[in-house]
Amino acid sequence: MRLAPPLCDRCGSPGAWPIRRCAECRGRRLSFASARAAIVYDKTARKLVSAWKERGQRHLARLAAAIIVESLARPPVAALAFVPADRDRSLERGHRPAESLARELGRAWELPVEPLVRRVRTVRPQRGLGLKERRGNVAGAFAPARASPGLVCLVDDVYTSGATVAAAASALRKGGARTVEVVTFARAVR
Ligand SMILES: [Zn+2]
Repeated sequence: MRLAPPLCDRCGSPGAWPIRRCAECRGRRLSFASARAAIVYDKTARKLVSAWKERGQRHLARLAAAIIVESLARPPVAALAFVPADRDRSLERGHRPAESLARELGRAWELPVEPLVRRVRTVRPQRGLGLKERRGNVAGAFAPARASPGLVCLVDDVYTSGATVAAAASALRKGGARTVEVVTFARAVR
């Protein structure tokens, strides 16, 4: 299901009318300017994403990128960055979903893709954790890998609580980004 407006200006959560900050993100310090996703993370999206992530089906990254390009405007940025994969888990699966999605988007939007963020420590899976725990789990997990352009777009596969992209965006800001726009394939909707 497409994620249709009206949306929260900041975190992209759908609502009854356009709003600057919604109940989900109000009062939270978010290091990104806005987050947008192509589709709702519903049952169908879950199936697609898990096939993509668990089995490393590369054509699914291409499909996800095509759906994003169809749904979202090309962000006005100088480069695309991505949430780096957990080393152990990406070795296990032999691929990196957020990075392959960013590469496909970079091709479509004609934007350079740069590894601007690195992981400083491994993070246990976010699944099953509450919002507070999720934030604590990823806090300080990322650091800038190199200097970032002022305007940058951070790509990830799924936006769940926003904790992961917020932590990675914060690393981009430390690396010199002034504005971080987040683009994900799917977004959990409460
Ligand atoms: Zn919001």
